[in-house]
Amino acid sequence: MQDLEHLKQRIALLDYLQQRNWTSRPTARQQEFVGLCPLHRDTRPSFYVNARKNLFYCHGCGQGGDLIRFVELSEHLSFRQSLAFLERQIAPADDGGVMERTAAFYQLELHRHPEAVQYLQQRGLRDPALLEELGIGYAPGGNLRRHLTSQGYSFDWLVHTGLISSQGRDTFCRRVIFPCRQHDQIVNLYGRSIGAAFPHRLLPRSKGGLFAWESVRHFSTVILVEGLFDLAVLWQAGFRNTTCALGTHLTPLQFQQLADRPRSIYIVFDQDKNHAGQQAAQQLAQRLAGAGISAHMIPLPPGHDPNSYLFADAAGFTLCLQQAHPL
Ligand SMILES: [Zn+2]
Repeated sequence: MQDLEHLKQRIALLDYLQQRNWTSRPTARQQEFVGLCPLHRDTRPSFYVNARKNLFYCHGCGQGGDLIRFVELSEHLSFRQSLAFLERQIAPADDGGVMERTAAFYQLELHRHPEAVQYLQQRGLRDPALLEELGIGYAPGGNLRRHLTSQGYSFDWLVHTGLISSQGRDTFCRRVIFPCRQHDQIVNLYGRSIGAAFPHRLLPRSKGGLFAWESVRHFSTVILVEGLFDLAVLWQAGFRNTTCALGTHLTPLQFQQLADRPRSIYIVFDQDKNHAGQQAAQQLAQRLAGAGISAHMIPLPPGHDPNSYLFADAAGFTLCLQQAHPL
């Protein structure tokens, strides 16, 4: 029954009718609309829809109910068949689909916005093949809503996914976008601000497992970094055994992934002034050691993260990895 409520929330009765060219006018009552009845031969508008309650009633034929009842009557289907019918209607609007379309849209936008490409270059990311492989995009802001509603996604649904604010603005406005995939599905989007806004942003949902774990898990030595820019520049430099936890605190799933078989882990967290990154790395290394995993901490020069250090001194970074001390 939870699915049923979910389904009804995702398709508003009024939207459903309007998509089928039902024309109506508002009545004197708030959120109430009236038009010709789609269920009987109606000459005088007698079909009323309460958009708030998602209910209809026809004074001509006496039929009334919710969206599923309407589908039963209009499509001549059983209750169960009507549910399946509606599930098919929203299949393209499924979460995975909207994430894919958003990521693809932002990927195209990247090439239309020199300021974003310039930002990537400043961070040391310049290999076009890698940008393509990681699906990196850019959200200029202000145009995602129009793009997705033109593809049939309802505004409410887009707000529900977190991609659009209730004011209709892109959540990721002026951010470089990395899609986070798991088993070929986008589970979240990460947005790095290129302006003054707070640097890091994820959609309000799980960050998923370790980034690109499917391609990294077979390495016997794995480099773990905090951020996706760190990962991208390390991949670009040939360290394809790098994964990222999107932060210094691993979810139980991410920890389990790292510890799923014997391997060596190099933890390369940011060298912050307040030592937060180094403390988190220390704790993680101890937990990994407890799980029988050999963990090494890579101390970076003060004020550096792997991205900036590799950019500044690739040879030095490689040396750091070689000299990594086991805990
Ligand atoms: Zn009727």
